[in-house]
Amino acid sequence: MTPAIVVDSLVVQFGSFRAIDGFSVVINYGEVQSVIGPNGAGKSTLLDVISGVTRARTGSVVLDGQVDLSRSSQEAIAAGGVRRKFQKPSVFEALTVEENVWLGRGGGLWRRQDDRLADREHVAASLRTVGLAERAQEPAGRLSHGEKQWLEIAMVLSSDPKVLLLDEPVAGLSDEERERTAALVKSLRSPDRAIVVVEHDMGFVEKIADRITVMHEGRSLFEGPMAAVRNDARVVEVYLGR
Ligand code: ADP
Ligand code: MG
Repeated sequence: MTPAIVVDSLVVQFGSFRAIDGFSVVINYGEVQSVIGPNGAGKSTLLDVISGVTRARTGSVVLDGQVDLSRSSQEAIAAGGVRRKFQKPSVFEALTVEENVWLGRGGGLWRRQDDRLADREHVAASLRTVGLAERAQEPAGRLSHGEKQWLEIAMVLSSDPKVLLLDEPVAGLSDEERERTAALVKSLRSPDRAIVVVEHDMGFVEKIADRITVMHEGRSLFEGPMAAVRNDARVVEVYLGR
């Protein structure tokens, strides 16, 4: 099967600083691909390029073996089924939980009047998936930080994306909330969906990832199964710091 996304020799430069310095990774359908690495490694910048927020200097990001996302607009990328949850939750606090998910589904709140069955079903299913169905009519501002992370996941899920990009989904969460998020991410795995989880928490990644790439200073330091990552001398040195 053609990979969902092939990132090849990516370079992203801010002034004279290379945030991504020749990074490559293959993201497959049916898998959870994790990109881990210390703060500043370039993980969010990678998602910025895949989602069209930031332009690459050189290299390519090819979707389904066809479309170069590094030359596409944010809108075209989202419409093509590539959706992203940002690192910091940014839900609309004054709107209800459900209204936030309607916005995530795309097209804005006016779609609600349309009362389209498919839309309603996707919105309801997304809320059930993340465990927020009971809270649907409450203002999003009343949710805890963890619940806001899950709401954001429901917002991106509601458009039924084929590529789901999650930036630090467990940042600031308790151990129990991390467990719940791990179960949630695993439940999202499907043959026609690729999931990319960017994290610096190795313990979390160990629970969910099919493949792991360690990013350091904009480069791929290591690729392989978790056990091998933990035993790699370079990874231990730069990432685990021992
Ligand atoms: P990570 O998500 O792995 O913590 P980032 O991708 O956010 O790292 O950042 C990688 C590096 O690029 C950091 O040194 C950061 O300061 C820098 N950087 C990110 N975005 C910009 C920007 N828009 N302008 C300048 N430097 C940036
Ligand atoms: Mg980041």
